[in-house]
Amino acid sequence: METRILDGKKTANEIKAEVSQEIEEMRAHGMVPGLAVVLVGDDAASRIYVRSKTRTCAELGMHSEQVDLPAETSTEQLLDVIRGLNLQDVIDAILVQLPLPDQIDTERVLSAVDPAKDVDGFHPVNVGRLLAGSPGLVPCTPLGILELLEREGVVIKGAGAVVVGRSNIVGKPVAVLLLHQHATVTLCHSRTRDLPEVCRRADILIAAIGRPAMLTRDYIKEGAVVVDVGINRIDRREEVISLYGRDSARLDQFDKKGYTLVGDVHPRDPLGVAAAITPVPGGVGPLTIALLMKNTLRACLQRRGPASQAMVSSL
Ligand code: NDP
Repeated sequence: METRILDGKKTANEIKAEVSQEIEEMRAHGMVPGLAVVLVGDDAASRIYVRSKTRTCAELGMHSEQVDLPAETSTEQLLDVIRGLNLQDVIDAILVQLPLPDQIDTERVLSAVDPAKDVDGFHPVNVGRLLAGSPGLVPCTPLGILELLEREGVVIKGAGAVVVGRSNIVGKPVAVLLLHQHATVTLCHSRTRDLPEVCRRADILIAAIGRPAMLTRDYIKEGAVVVDVGINRIDRREEVISLYGRDSARLDQFDKKGYTLVGDVHPRDPLGVAAAITPVPGGVGPLTIALLMKNTLRACLQRRGPASQAMVSSL
């Protein structure tokens, strides 16, 4: 069987083009969606993520603000910043970059974001709305996965879907979204018995584990669609050789950069077994940012008055 590679970058570009078009029309009516990104501390990876989010806002014609706070910020100080952003009319969406430093009570902070501006969908009100199937803001990565499956013509209705990983950010919300689309969903985790056997029942297999190349051929049913959410950094050359082979472009890339990124699914094992798979990088990652843009637009349309409501349904 030839395995189709699901190009997340291409789908992300399509979504961003649609969002950009919508923003152009809104700007003509004097409405500019605005995103505030709050970064606490100096974590290098977080800084890169935040930069790429604000840069994408600019590319799409959105307003964005970055709030940089020192690593020693207290929960109370951060709550004050969030309250200020909740009150600003030009800000439709607030994103608090995770993880936060240890001294900060993350749950209190996420619950302080106005649910109408909760672009990551982490506020308990939005979590409840998602579970109930009522309109609200939904986490970006799970939304991106569903958009990719739908745009690639993957039949979800009636399919057996297995999600490995039960985090609040990816595993649980993607399981709920698949359920709403009428898949029969199994949600697995570190205590699941005989995981390979459970995974081999999946028509749609979603890996959100954080364990490099864990899902090998043994976990994949012939003809399955495999979505690999994992982003794991590999620093050891021998590991790159064992995963990609000695003559691989990946090894050349590793030799130049000193590291490479691998998903939770083995990069070579599914080829010839799965019907389709998302690559790492270039699969789910780009979709997460595209959906952040779409969620910001959605938050803006939902928040700014009844005239906007008609536009929301078209999103
Ligand atoms: P978490 O660490 O929060 O959750 C991992 C989940 O995997 C847990 O539910 C855990 O089970 C389960 N798990 C761990 N080990 C095993 C095992 N051996 N067998 C079965 N299940 C296991 O991770 P996240 O959900 O935040 O992220 C998962 C991956 O996705 C990471 O690589 C992350 O970098 C990536 N990611 C990528 C994004 C993107 O945009 N592409 C966005 C967000 C995350 P238990 O609950 O029992 O501990």
